[in-house]
Amino acid sequence: MRWLYLVATATALLLSACSGSSDDTSTPAPGGPSGPRPGTWLSGDLHLHSDHSDDAADNPIEKLVKVAEERGMGFFTITDHDNHVEGRLTTWDDPAFRSDKMVLLHGVEYTTARGHANLFSAARFDHMRFYALRDRTDAEAGRAIAAEARAQGVHLSVNHPVNGDPWEFGFDMPFDSMEIWNALYAFPTDNSGAIRLWDELIAGGRRITGRGGSDCHHQTGIESLGLNVGNPTTWVYSQAPTAAGVLAALKAGHVAIGYAPTAERIRLTADADRDGGYETLMGDALPAQGQPVAFRVDIDRARPLGIYNVTVLKNGQPFLERRLFGEQVLDFEDTPAAGQRSWYRAEVRGSTPEAPALAVLAGFYGDFVGMTNPIYFGYE
Ligand SMILES: [Zn+2]
Ligand SMILES: [Zn+2]
Repeated sequence: MRWLYLVATATALLLSACSGSSDDTSTPAPGGPSGPRPGTWLSGDLHLHSDHSDDAADNPIEKLVKVAEERGMGFFTITDHDNHVEGRLTTWDDPAFRSDKMVLLHGVEYTTARGHANLFSAARFDHMRFYALRDRTDAEAGRAIAAEARAQGVHLSVNHPVNGDPWEFGFDMPFDSMEIWNALYAFPTDNSGAIRLWDELIAGGRRITGRGGSDCHHQTGIESLGLNVGNPTTWVYSQAPTAAGVLAALKAGHVAIGYAPTAERIRLTADADRDGGYETLMGDALPAQGQPVAFRVDIDRARPLGIYNVTVLKNGQPFLERRLFGEQVLDFEDTPAAGQRSWYRAEVRGSTPEAPALAVLAGFYGDFVGMTNPIYFGYE
């Protein structure tokens, strides 16, 4: 995307670069709210372009990896446009695509005339088989792409589904996740449309992970000031710090999206058996038995003076709104209807010091601090 170049140059003077680094990216799960499930929170960015994409020629892999490491990310990928190299991917074989600090995924942006999707894998795969499907326009094209992903064990994730280059292969195909937060939350893409679509798909009975992606193309120039590596950040609760672990967590929806790797992380858990242990994690599905369930929203690494407006959404509609000041936990209870599908997720709005100054002034980041994936009832 090249839209930010349209922003008046003068505004650049008001921007302050995203800053901050942290080693707090693989925080072990606290004993309580996450329950006994073993695992590790890992932060990462799932949509980035390097100089192996024509429109990111000033973004060398070496620099991207360095920035991600400095920001303390736990996993990383680079998703260059496959059409710029006619499907013959070059990113993975670049000697600069290596890290001793982060789990690396094999990634690519499947860039077609009918929309974009990121492909992720723990290992190399035969991308030319996907490339051969790119020009298909028949009704089965989307299913053929999904079948190829299944056959090769590749995670298929639709990008910016309704904005920019919308996805036209259809949403009834079995993909694994969807980019519901691309770049700054409110500008240049209003991500609320993607989130509405996500809720609609879930309402129809699907369990689809929502993820973020910065779509970072540059480390210099005006665009890099507004959006860069890790804005937003996708957090996964992974059983192991491995590529397979990250992808399993992504597929399972054990995923939160936050403003930056150093910003707040939102967590939704539930205690369905009321034993005091919040063992159900976002992404999990429970039977709809008509029993009351205790839920908990945690804001990990909340700022001491942070004010957070928490919205719990039930079945895509605001269910509970609460302002937290000096607290980081919101407990609530509800009874999902017996024998019906319901889903709960949380969004948190407020200010975060991570946001660039102009983004704050202009509301480009939409006061959006973070969100969770849902806990599902009646979807098993
Ligand atoms: Zn794209
Ligand atoms: Zn992209």
